[in-house]
Amino acid sequence: TATSTPLVVAFPDGDGTMAEILGGKGAGLAQMTRLGLPVPHGFTVTTAACREYLREGQEPAALATELEAALRRLEASAGRSLGDPVDPLLVSVRSGARFSMPGMMETILDVGLTDEVVTGVAARQGARFAWDSYRRLVQMYGRTVLGVDSAHFEARLARARADAGVTTDQELSADSLEEVTGDFRKLLLEHAGEDLPQDPREQLHRAVLAVFASWTGDRARRYRAHEGISEDLGTAVNIVQMVFGNRGRRSGSGVCFTRNPATGEPVPYGDYLVDAQGEDVVNGSRRTMDLTELAAREPELHRELVGHLATLERHYRDLCDVEFTVEEGRLWILQTRVGKRSPAAAFRIACDLHDEGVIDLDEALCRVDGHQLASLLHPGFATGSGEQPVARGLAASPGAATGRVVFDAATAMEWAARGEHVVLVRPETSPDDLGGLLASVAVVTARGGLTSHAAVVARGLGKTCVTGVEGLEVDENGRRAGLPGGLVLDEGDALSVDGATGEVFLGSRDVVPSACALAIRSWSHEQARAPYLTHADPTVRSVGRLLAHADERRTAGVRANAETPSDAHAAREYGAEGIGLARTEHMLLGDRRVLVEQVVTGNERAAALARIEELARVELEQVLEEMDGLPTVVRLLDPPLHEFLPDLVDLEVGTAVARAGGTPDLEAERRLTLVRRWHEQNPMLGLRGVRLLAAVPELVTVQVRALAEAAASLKARGLDPRPEVMVPLVADVCELTGALTRIRAEVDDVATATHEAVRVPLGVMIELPRAALTSGRLAEEVDFFSFGTNDLTQTTWGMSRDDAETSFLAAYRESGTLATDPFSTLDDIGVGRLIRLSVQEGRLTRPTLGLGVCGEHAGDPDSIHLLLAAGVDYLSCSPPRVPVARLEAGRYAV
Ligand code: PEP
Ligand code: MG
Repeated sequence: TATSTPLVVAFPDGDGTMAEILGGKGAGLAQMTRLGLPVPHGFTVTTAACREYLREGQEPAALATELEAALRRLEASAGRSLGDPVDPLLVSVRSGARFSMPGMMETILDVGLTDEVVTGVAARQGARFAWDSYRRLVQMYGRTVLGVDSAHFEARLARARADAGVTTDQELSADSLEEVTGDFRKLLLEHAGEDLPQDPREQLHRAVLAVFASWTGDRARRYRAHEGISEDLGTAVNIVQMVFGNRGRRSGSGVCFTRNPATGEPVPYGDYLVDAQGEDVVNGSRRTMDLTELAAREPELHRELVGHLATLERHYRDLCDVEFTVEEGRLWILQTRVGKRSPAAAFRIACDLHDEGVIDLDEALCRVDGHQLASLLHPGFATGSGEQPVARGLAASPGAATGRVVFDAATAMEWAARGEHVVLVRPETSPDDLGGLLASVAVVTARGGLTSHAAVVARGLGKTCVTGVEGLEVDENGRRAGLPGGLVLDEGDALSVDGATGEVFLGSRDVVPSACALAIRSWSHEQARAPYLTHADPTVRSVGRLLAHADERRTAGVRANAETPSDAHAAREYGAEGIGLARTEHMLLGDRRVLVEQVVTGNERAAALARIEELARVELEQVLEEMDGLPTVVRLLDPPLHEFLPDLVDLEVGTAVARAGGTPDLEAERRLTLVRRWHEQNPMLGLRGVRLLAAVPELVTVQVRALAEAAASLKARGLDPRPEVMVPLVADVCELTGALTRIRAEVDDVATATHEAVRVPLGVMIELPRAALTSGRLAEEVDFFSFGTNDLTQTTWGMSRDDAETSFLAAYRESGTLATDPFSTLDDIGVGRLIRLSVQEGRLTRPTLGLGVCGEHAGDPDSIHLLLAAGVDYLSCSPPRVPVARLEAGRYAV
C-alpha cells in the first residue's frame, strides 16, 4: 500500500526481487550492488511514487524530503556534490518499468550541469567534453521535461556539422558545441517559454516528474496495449552517478551477454567501443571490437569483466545481458537483466545450464516454449539480406517459400505440372481452389483470418500461407494484383512469402529447410533409445532432449488432424499418438466436389454415393494402416454445403445468357432450380454437420460402411485398426441419437458380413454453445467429446471465422478493443467457460468420458495450458504442430 511502500530506495537497500517497486532496471542495479559489482552509486524512485503522482495529479507529499535524503547519501558515498563547480557530481535520470519497454525509455543525462558548473568541468576535463555534455543535457531536458520537438535540436546540430564541414557530432569543436548549446537554450525559451533551471536540484526534481508523466504518453500507451502490459504499473526512475566512457583512449562503453544470445554457445559475447558513450555502441555508427579483441588489448579489463559476468550468471541462473562503461581504466557495470535470446539459443542454453548443474530438467523445460519450438520447425528465409516486405498479412501457416505468382487454381496446376514453383494469390480461397493449393508452394489471400478456409487447409497441408493481406487487391481477370504503395504484381512475377511473420516480399529469396523438423521426423524411425543425443547440432540435440522430457512429464495425449495417408505418416513421425480429427470432406474437394453435388441434387445419386463409398474405403484403409494400433477419429462429412455446390450467381448468369441467345441450356436450368433450393443466406449456420443427415441420410451410411469395412479388412490382415467416429455440429441430443443409431446399425452390419468385430467408440463434437450447455445429456449417448473450438468460437462470439478478420477484427486489435484474436488464442472467459462447463457436466454423467480438442487452439501454445487446465485428455492439431503440443503439454505438467 502507499503508506508502507517507500518512495525512494538507495541501491544498497534493494535487491533483485523488488522489480515490482524498483522496476527491472532498478532491481538489477540494487542486486548488482549487493553482489559487490562495481555499480555507480545511485537510488531508485519507486513505482509507488509514480502511481501516486499519476493518480493524484501531484507528487507525494514526502517525495521532496525523501529525494533530498537519498541525494545527500549519494553525494556522501560518491564523494562529490551536485552543483560543485570544481568537482561536481553529475547524474543520469532514467525510467525503468517492471517490464522492459524498448524504445519507450526516457533518459536525461548529465543532470547537474549549469553555466557555473560547466566552466569547472571544462577546466578539469577539457572544454570539448564539458560543452558536449552540457548540450546533451539541454537537449534531453528540453525534449523530455519541456516537450520541445527533437527535430529542432537535430536541425541545429546538422547546421553545425555543415558549417564545420564534418559528418559526425564527435568532430564538432568545443567552440561549436558551446554555440550549439546557447542556441538550444534559445529553442527552449522559444518553444516552451522557459530555460534550463540553474539549480541542479530543480533539474533533478523536474526530470523525475517528467519521467513519471511519460508513462501516460501516447507512444507508451500504445506499446503497453500491444504487449498486454497493465496501465496501472507505473514506472520507477533511476538516479545514477554519471560515469563517462568518452574520456579518451582508456575509456569506452560496451554491451555484452554472458553467453551467445543468437546461438546459445556458452562463451561471453559482446561489443566494445573505445572513447564512446553507451548509445554510440548501439547505434552502429562506429566499428566496435568484440570481446576477443578486448581480451588481446586490455587483458586486465577483460578478465575483470568476464569475472563479473560469471557472478551474474551464477546469481540469476540464466543468460544475462550487461551494459558497461570504462572510465579512465576503471570498469563500471551500468545495467543487467536476464537477456533476450533467439529460439535456437533458448533450447541450447536451457540444456547447457542443466548440464552445468545450474537448473534441473523441469526448469530447463520451462525455460523454452512452444512458440520458440514452432519457429525452429518450419523452413525459413536465409537471414541477413535486409530485404523489406512489400505487404503484410496474418501469419496463417508458417514456412517460407518463393515462387511465381498465379491468380487461379487452374493456372497454378498447369504451371506446377511443368515444374514451376507457384504462389497462389487469391482474394480468398474456396474448396474449388484445393488443386491450386496443392500445386502451390504458398498461398496469399487478401481476405480471411487465421481459421479461414485457406488458413486451415494450408496448415493441414503444411503449406506456407499468409491471409488478410492489407491493401492487396486481386484482379483475377486482369491477371494482376495491386499491393500497398501502388505496386503492381503481374502473373509470373516472383514473390516470396514468410508464413511465420506474415510478410510478403517481391522477388526470390533463398529458403533453408528446418534442421529440427528433419531430425524429429528421422528419430521416429530409429531404434536407439535416445537418438537425439548423437545429433551434431547442439540446438537440435537440446530440442530432442527437452521434447523427450516433455513426453515423460505430460499426462495429456497429443494427436493430429489428418485425413490423407501422407499426413497420417507425417503425424506419426512428429510423434502423434493417433488422429483426433480426420475431416472426411477434405477427401471430396477438388474434382471430387461434384460427387457431393450429385448426391444432393439427386442427379446420378446412387452412382455418386457408391463412388464416395469406394474412395472412402480405399483412403481410410490407408490412413488406418498408417495409424495401426493408434486411435483414429473419423468425423462424418461436415461440408458447409455451399462449398460443394456450383456458384448460384455463375449459374444464373450462364442460363440467362443462353436464354437470351435463343438456345436455353436445359440441363443448366435444372441445376439452377436445385441449387436455388439449397441456397442459404447464412451457410456457415446452415445445412452443415449432423444436419446433413436430414437431407441426405445415405451420406452417413456410406461413410460409416466404408470405415467399418476398411477396419475389418485390416483386422483380417492381422493389423490393429482403431477407428472412432464422431458427429459434427450437433446442437440437440435428438440430432445426435438419430445419427448414432445409423452409425451403430452400419457397424453391426459390417461386423456380421465380415465376421470381424471392430469396436468403434462414438463421439460428438462440442462446437455449438447449445451442445456445451447440454453436455450432461449428450454424454449419456457417447464415449467421447471433441471440442471444435473453431466453430465454438465462431458461434459463441457470433462472428464469422472467414470474414471477421478483415471486416473488423484487425481494426479491433489495432484500436485495442481486443488484445488478441479469439480464433488463434482461446477466449478463456467466454469460450473457455463453456468448455469447462461441458467437461464438468459431461464427466458427471459419464466419468470415463474421453475429452479431446481438435480446433486450431489445440496447437497454440497460449491456449494449450487453458485447455489442459479445463481437464481435456488430448490435443489434436496439424501434424507439424504436434511437437509444439507435446512440448507445451509437458510444460503444463511440471
Ligand atoms: C472446429 O470447428 O473447431 C473443428 C475442428 O471443425 P472445422 O474446423 O472442420 O469446422
Ligand atoms: Mg467445426
